[in-house]
Amino acid sequence: RREHGRLYGPGIGDNSLGVAGLFGLLWSLRKQNIALPGDLWLVANTCEEGLGDLRGMKAVVERFGDAPKAYLVLEGMALGHVYHKAIGVRRYKITACAEGGHSWTDYGRPSAIHALAELVAQITSLSLPENPRTTLNVGKIGGGTSINTIAAEAWMELDTRSEGSAALAELDRQVESLVETAGGPGVGFKAEIIGQRPVGEIETSHPVIQLAQACLRQQGFDPILTDGSTDANIPLSLGLPALVLGLTQGGGAHTIHEYIETAPIQKGLAQLVNFVKQV
Ligand SMILES: [Zn+2]
Repeated sequence: RREHGRLYGPGIGDNSLGVAGLFGLLWSLRKQNIALPGDLWLVANTCEEGLGDLRGMKAVVERFGDAPKAYLVLEGMALGHVYHKAIGVRRYKITACAEGGHSWTDYGRPSAIHALAELVAQITSLSLPENPRTTLNVGKIGGGTSINTIAAEAWMELDTRSEGSAALAELDRQVESLVETAGGPGVGFKAEIIGQRPVGEIETSHPVIQLAQACLRQQGFDPILTDGSTDANIPLSLGLPALVLGLTQGGGAHTIHEYIETAPIQKGLAQLVNFVKQV
């Protein structure tokens, strides 16, 4: 849906526009007859969202190793930002198991859902440091058999992340110890790690970060140096030069109301072309 200079659609900015940016870059280079001093690989990969655990980017970095001058990751909605730092993420699937039974005749037996709900309340009551910024989210929950069955199984998916690796380790230690002591007689808990995104960063004085900022200034932006959990986590965690640039502004990421602003895309693309030309 187009409305007031915005384009709406789930995934439009995070990250359909990133993929479109690969083509925009290619077409701009051709149109402007720009000869690059080296090879430019345009790579679209999978598994950056959800439970993919960056498998696509892991394969990309396995393929190219330390050969590239830089890994440049495109994000649809972060125009004006230069990501030079990777936030660490750990993800768990936590499952509760019990005997189950009939809600009336077996009343009193432990319920996996009731026990899991208590654990969710405990986890979400943990106090998290503001600095380094540390967050947690129970993003999915499920379980049970029917309304009048005492639940034999229930599960949640938990995402923990932090700018600091020590803060993340501390949060994960607290979560794991809550899981260990969760439930009472007749309820078992297990936590399984289903995702791990390593931390890493390159200095803001690194030539590619300096160049990225210069390219943004050229388009009239005051560049913001920032961190995030993106495909760049993989090269950054291995000490390889990597960064993330945006293509436009937008909002509502990961919701059905997601949108991008169409006007700034031109500047976003120009920034990209200038960066690739000079890197
Ligand atoms: Zn996303």
